[in-house]
Amino acid sequence: MKRKAELKERLKELFPNRTEHWYALCFKRLEHVKHLNGNRYMVWGDRKLGDFHPVYFVDVEDEGYKCSCATPTRSWWMRRKAETCTHAGAVALYILSRQEGLRLDAAKA
Ligand SMILES: [Zn+2]
Repeated sequence: MKRKAELKERLKELFPNRTEHWYALCFKRLEHVKHLNGNRYMVWGDRKLGDFHPVYFVDVEDEGYKCSCATPTRSWWMRRKAETCTHAGAVALYILSRQEGLRLDAAKA
């Protein structure tokens, strides 16, 4: 429990002023994150979380996180572009958990 609380604090430092729901979604997505290579990650979509696509790609760049759900051809992109999506938040959480040397199942506890 302490670990999760710590991770949440770190996430809040990166993405302040989000709703509790937003942080909770990032934790839900954490187990669906996979590191592909370099700065590229993928997140499995989940219809229960409002996803329309089976998979999303997130690139971690100097300017920030770029998620494939924010491309113009995709639904809700205007809204999602304005606020960092939880796919990107989940990837940030994944990276934070690795920095902490935590196993993913430990982060979920
Ligand atoms: Zn996204």
